[in-house]
Amino acid sequence: MELASKDSCTDCGNCRLEQISKLNNISAVGKKCCGCTACVNVCPQKVIYMVENSEGFYYPKIVDKGCIECGLCIKSCPALNSGEFKNKTLVGYAATSQDITTSENSSSGGIFALIAREFLRNNSWVIGAKMESDYCLKHVAINHIEELEGLQGSKYVQSNMDGIIDKISELLSNGSQVLFSGTPCQVSGLKKAMKIKGIDVKNLVTIDIVCHGVPSPKFFREHVKFKYGKVSNIKFRHRTKHELNGYALGFQKSGNYKIIQPTNRDFYYACFSSQVSLRESCYNCAYTTANRVGDITLGDLSTHRLYDSYFKKDRALSIVGVNTERGKHLFGNLKNVDFIKADYLKECSVNAQMNHPTARPDERDNFYIALFQNGYSEKNADEYKYRYSFKENVKNWITLNTTPSFRNKLKKLLKSNEN
Ligand SMILES: Cc1cc2nc3c(=O)[nH]c(=O)nc-3n(C[C@H](O)[C@H](O)[C@H](O)COP(=O)(O)OP(=O)(O)OC[C@H]3O[C@@H](n4cnc5c(N)ncnc54)[C@H](O)[C@@H]3O)c2cc1C
Ligand code: SF4
Ligand code: SF4
Ligand code: SF4
Repeated sequence: MELASKDSCTDCGNCRLEQISKLNNISAVGKKCCGCTACVNVCPQKVIYMVENSEGFYYPKIVDKGCIECGLCIKSCPALNSGEFKNKTLVGYAATSQDITTSENSSSGGIFALIAREFLRNNSWVIGAKMESDYCLKHVAINHIEELEGLQGSKYVQSNMDGIIDKISELLSNGSQVLFSGTPCQVSGLKKAMKIKGIDVKNLVTIDIVCHGVPSPKFFREHVKFKYGKVSNIKFRHRTKHELNGYALGFQKSGNYKIIQPTNRDFYYACFSSQVSLRESCYNCAYTTANRVGDITLGDLSTHRLYDSYFKKDRALSIVGVNTERGKHLFGNLKNVDFIKADYLKECSVNAQMNHPTARPDERDNFYIALFQNGYSEKNADEYKYRYSFKENVKNWITLNTTPSFRNKLKKLLKSNEN
């Protein structure tokens, strides 16, 4: 294979793939790796460890000479074999929880919590992403309903999967029912690992979330410590007075609940919005399509205006993709849910991350270098954060200070003036 010159290299990873095929192990996966930890789980020699890189993302490293080049790590890797397990969605629904608290504690319709509750009621296990007290997001296993709230809500940082595939293997091998919810690449890695290890997955149900990418855990950790000190109960999608499905950062500090909105006021969130802080694999993600890896897909309903009138005004809506017969059975038996059949293809065409990966901004090249070059410096990386235009600032002000019905009237008025 002829190598490109330094200037024309696009970092596609193909040269490393050639290296992989020579080595027959995962050591050269490079930036294609999405950090799912499937390779760590399947390695019979236990020589793969996840190690934090200079940007604060975890990548696998083979640490000693014990590798027998069995190639199982390569077979388990969703970054290198992304076509498997993808299903054409059978039917899509616009849906929301009948119970307002469930939906308020979630990102949109609270469908994850409704499904999880069914599992927990039946003494089964639920696996999802929980923010720990050291600001590290981790996939954890729970089997008590009181623990569910910690798993609810989108967290805009990569979750650590260390040890969780081992735990799921153990639970499934013991005959437990397991619900796993995570990004599509995590679902794919989990399924591949189970297949390679020959573990029966008849008791495993998977939810994949529509996903536009994840920033570095180290960035999030350092930002919270640097900017806010000791906080708890962090929410990335805190609902505000007039906005059900908006973005607002909320957390508890010294007895008060602080809400930061618009999110541009928070450096971490503003960098997330300008898309410069995502993991490299996210910009080439093979899972941002209409074909899905989970039994059920959950996302924030982009076409909600088509269905708003069928639901109570105070509910945010999710898109629910039912992808398999197992998913169909599960959704069909769900309690306390309001739903209506949605135009799934339309949703896929409007909801960006159901049809293409997030675009990689050129500024991504230098963002993490600037951020971490002198310890941790937000000042050095300030130029990379998203800045609202005047129009966006006006729009934000209106959203924060007026009711949805006022905004609808305003929209109609502006439209009629245009015509
Ligand atoms: C990083 C990220 C990006 C997203 N991007 C989009 C998008 O572009 N378009 C869109 O329509 N929807 C997106 N979503 C999904 C959306 O925000 C909701 O999670 C989804 O609609 C389900 O909502 P819910 O109210 O049913 O449940 P919620 O309670 O909001 O569901 C939360 C579920 O997501 C899991 N989860 C939360 N954070 C993470 C994480 N960092 N990694 C892995 N799993 C996590 C939790 O374990 C839980 O199972 C994204 C979610 C995340 C985490
Ligand atoms: S090739 Fe086999 S032994 Fe070597 S790291 Fe991969 S899984 Fe482990
Ligand atoms: S299996 Fe997962 S963690 Fe391992 S190299 Fe592939 S994507 Fe990365
Ligand atoms: S965008 Fe793709 S690679 Fe990135 S976390 Fe989401 S599913 Fe994984």
